[in-house]
Amino acid sequence: MICKKCEAQNEDAARFCGHCGAPLEERDCSQAEPKKKSKVGILATIGIILIAVIIAGVFVMRTNQVKKQEQNLVCLLQRKTANGVILMKMAK
Ligand SMILES: [Zn+2]
Repeated sequence: MICKKCEAQNEDAARFCGHCGAPLEERDCSQAEPKKKSKVGILATIGIILIAVIIAGVFVMRTNQVKKQEQNLVCLLQRKTANGVILMKMAK
């Protein structure tokens, strides 16, 4: 078995390189698996973040709509009261 780091010859049964101490092929396989898992984890986290952003966006939109409706109501009330005041003044 040849070390990938320093290209030194090692016994086939050896797990680590006798020259540089780097892990030999057996560990390369185990290193490849966590990469796949981490990719899936990244995708999952991105998905969760996207869902959270969408939910947050919908929530903000709804609260904004409610605020707008409240503002409209306040404006209507103010207009009505303003008209009432004007009418009262005109009546006097
Ligand atoms: Zn080596």
